[in-house]
Amino acid sequence: MTDTFTVLGAGLAGSLVSIYLARRGAKVRVYERRSDPRVTLIDGGRSINLALANRGIRALREVGLYKDIQALTIPMRGRMLHETGMPAVLQPYGKDESEVIYSISRGGLNALLLDRAEHHGVDIRFDHSIETVDLDTGVLDVRDAAGATHTVDAAPMIASDGAGSVIRHAMAKQKGADNREEMLTHAYKELTIPPGADGDFQIDANSLHIWPRGGFMMIALPNLDRSFTVTLFLAVDGEDSFATLDSPSAVTQFFERYFADAMPLFNDLTGEFFENPTGALGTVRCTPWHVGNKAVLIGDAAHAIVPFHGQGMNCAFEDCFELDRCLGETQGQDLEDTFRLFEQRRLPNANAIADMALENYIEMRASVRDPYFHLKKELAWELEKRFPTQFVPRYSMVMFHHVPYAEAQRRGVIQQQILDELLEGHQRDAGVGNVDFGRAKSLIDARLHGAIELQ
Ligand SMILES: Cc1cc2nc3c(=O)[nH]c(=O)nc-3n(C[C@H](O)[C@H](O)[C@H](O)COP(=O)(O)OP(=O)(O)OC[C@H]3O[C@@H](n4cnc5c(N)ncnc54)[C@H](O)[C@@H]3O)c2cc1C
Repeated sequence: MTDTFTVLGAGLAGSLVSIYLARRGAKVRVYERRSDPRVTLIDGGRSINLALANRGIRALREVGLYKDIQALTIPMRGRMLHETGMPAVLQPYGKDESEVIYSISRGGLNALLLDRAEHHGVDIRFDHSIETVDLDTGVLDVRDAAGATHTVDAAPMIASDGAGSVIRHAMAKQKGADNREEMLTHAYKELTIPPGADGDFQIDANSLHIWPRGGFMMIALPNLDRSFTVTLFLAVDGEDSFATLDSPSAVTQFFERYFADAMPLFNDLTGEFFENPTGALGTVRCTPWHVGNKAVLIGDAAHAIVPFHGQGMNCAFEDCFELDRCLGETQGQDLEDTFRLFEQRRLPNANAIADMALENYIEMRASVRDPYFHLKKELAWELEKRFPTQFVPRYSMVMFHHVPYAEAQRRGVIQQQILDELLEGHQRDAGVGNVDFGRAKSLIDARLHGAIELQ
């Protein structure tokens, strides 16, 4: 194997992939634009959290990190739905209590990965920004904190420089390349629900809270300091949009109208609303992901997705796991073979999770309010119980297993058809007890050929 790599970006993917490479004995240098987040406040010191699920956990476990990371997590067993004027209701994520996802601090996780990377001898250069790249020669121009530009012979490069990747943009200029960046017409704003006067969580700690409002929504994930990070997802323009929330009174009126039950939980709603940035959301689909043996894209640099399936980081971590696997399988061959194999395996899966993440926005902000959605979920779990090797709900395939995303998407479409057919003409409030399970078996046998590889 090549014994020196340059990793671009020390975010979640960059820091984890460095650990994987260093464990293989490679010399790894990382360039990161930001200051070291372990010594400088990032994002104004706000707690920002993410949902960690099985794919991410497997990749962390593989490098012996999951034990340390567990101390940073809070299990979330389902969605707590806050409908206007109704008591909150928990919708479990999985078929039983083993199927949960975890809230984790982005900063805490990144710091731990950086510590571990350095422990493995990775050389991380903070305050070093990649300015330009020559993909033919593998030479980078890097600007340091003092503003001086250095020309660096950097190949082979692992480009984990996020959604706005300099390397992807350089690749996009090459003949035959395709780089599609589709912005969502909705954006997001992070807010905080602080601990209550008694120092404890103000709402249930082991849930991902959702206030679904049809065209938009607000969610909240718990933090270890007993606060919640709240995210409002809303249209950029139009009626009920970020554009109309242009004054403290407009914000207060909007929240009183749509999120009255959450209003008493905030401490400084309008202050935070105008202090915190409004973030854009989008999907990146590009090809190719590699240039010869010079560079390969991973994480958001290759496939930024919208956050509604909670899979961007999980998918980025799975990239690190898979790239390491490809390095093992192509040992002794040119690195171009490794990068090509990685791209072949990951690109269709990245496109599949991009689609499913977009679909999940509708599910979270609207479908969760529909009783038919719950009936279908109940039936899906019943079918999983009866036919566990053939029928696993799509959400579970994505969040609790390692079924390739593209396969989860393919099976998911067939499963939806089966559920709709079995529930056609079914009394909606009758539960799933009198569904024809003989017919269910025939449909499953005929359409979902063979057992699913849950891995
Ligand atoms: C609101 C929101 C909620 C999310 N929630 C979840 C969730 O619950 N679960 C989940 O799995 N995912 C979630 N995600 C997605 C997740 O944040 C990303 O998929 C993940 O951060 C990707 O990691 P990365 O390392 O590829 O990119 P990043 O984390 O963006 O890291 C890229 C790094 O490269 C550095 N960099 C960029 N350009 C340069 C340059 N020119 N020179 C040097 N360094 C550079 C950046 O400073 C950064 O440190 C969410 C995303 C958003 C926006």
